[in-house]
Amino acid sequence: MEPNSIFDNTETAFKLKSDSELERAYFLFRMIANEPLVRIGTAATKFALNLHLPVEGLIRSTVFDHFCGGVSEKDCMPVVDNLFEVGVSSVLDYSVEGKEGSDQLDSSLNKVLELTDFAETKPAMPFSVFKPTGFGRFELYRKITKNEELTNDEKNEWERLVQRFDTASKAAFDANITLLIDSEETWMQDAADQLCEQMMEKYNKERAVVFNTLQCYRWDRLDYLKEQHKKAKAGGYKLGYKIVRGAYLEKENERAEEKGYNTPMHKSKDATDSDFNAILLYIIDNLDDIELFIGTHNEDSNYLAMEIMEEKNIAINDPRVWFGQLYGMSDHITFNLATKGYNVAKYIPFGPVKDVMPYLIRRAEENTSVAGQTNRELSLLKKEKNRRGI
Ligand SMILES: Cc1cc2nc3c(=O)[nH]c(=O)nc-3n(C[C@H](O)[C@H](O)[C@H](O)COP(=O)(O)OP(=O)(O)OC[C@H]3O[C@@H](n4cnc5c(N)ncnc54)[C@H](O)[C@@H]3O)c2cc1C
Repeated sequence: MEPNSIFDNTETAFKLKSDSELERAYFLFRMIANEPLVRIGTAATKFALNLHLPVEGLIRSTVFDHFCGGVSEKDCMPVVDNLFEVGVSSVLDYSVEGKEGSDQLDSSLNKVLELTDFAETKPAMPFSVFKPTGFGRFELYRKITKNEELTNDEKNEWERLVQRFDTASKAAFDANITLLIDSEETWMQDAADQLCEQMMEKYNKERAVVFNTLQCYRWDRLDYLKEQHKKAKAGGYKLGYKIVRGAYLEKENERAEEKGYNTPMHKSKDATDSDFNAILLYIIDNLDDIELFIGTHNEDSNYLAMEIMEEKNIAINDPRVWFGQLYGMSDHITFNLATKGYNVAKYIPFGPVKDVMPYLIRRAEENTSVAGQTNRELSLLKKEKNRRGI
């Protein structure tokens, strides 16, 4: 395999995009590549939404439609069906963030349950997903992570949170689908990890129903993985991990500096890459015990995974290995992997425009800070525009 050529086929990469969608994507990535513009745009958008200015229409026809499947799961169905026709599965992600009332947390759970029910009969959707803070208050996770004493009310609140994790995990188990649990900020993540471990122990006896997420920008994750592996072997259950680099680098480093503790982040991109590769290799070496979902837009990482699979004689479509990218990003990786027969899925965020803004802002900032990736998107979009003569 030639690493640089595998993902270069732009006809395959953009076959689901109409000419106007291609133009919009090109326009958007050009805007996103401009860091000052993203900073000003982000601040202006937050300000306008807080003041209830009528900017939703503009957001919707630009960033929202590019990075999200719609406002409701029903809106996402045409996208899900189109993707599945070209061999790409979908992970519908109700991306509403920052809602902490118990009704709102219950409604997040209900959304996951509805999607799980639906997924049971829809082969295009073999996964459900949630974020720990979708099911519980950030501060509660933080207190448990820091071993702080809970009030009686908080103890009850925690019980309800555990129950939400359990209900979502059991539903995935019963529906025979896989549940992906995202990872968030380190100062609340230990509490979420403990719950994920409990769910894996309970529901992963035969196969990995519940997956936690390993953020490889953390220097402690390889050791954590090895320790979890030992525990799971002793306890007779399987592990499932989505591996990613991690989305909160700047926030993590800023907090560590501000509060004067050693940053949990690797000191360089190379160190993160090297742990990502080591974790990837470790899991593929132990596929009988640990299932894998590789969440990355990095071409080298995707290529490395393909190469390791080939070396170890692991079938391209081995059900224990999945690749995943976010909707609106790296179509050249997703569609070229699917064409070759790998298991690949798109995360498709959806939800009311205002509520998915934190997600959209993270995507814009990430694409700004990962300049190489944005340039890659732009050059591929340009190549396809030229190929189509538009
Ligand atoms: C399907 C999917 C699911 C995801 N789920 C989650 C999730 O649950 N939790 C989460 O946090 N993120 C998640 N992400 C986002 C992910 O963590 C990354 O932010 C994003 O994918 C960019 O990383 P990359 O591997 O694609 O690209 P790359 O361009 O190779 O890597 C960029 C990443 O490298 C790291 N990095 C950059 N500079 C440095 C530096 N100086 N020092 C140390 N590290 C550095 C950062 O993590 C940065 O985001 C998900 C991504 C995908 C595709």
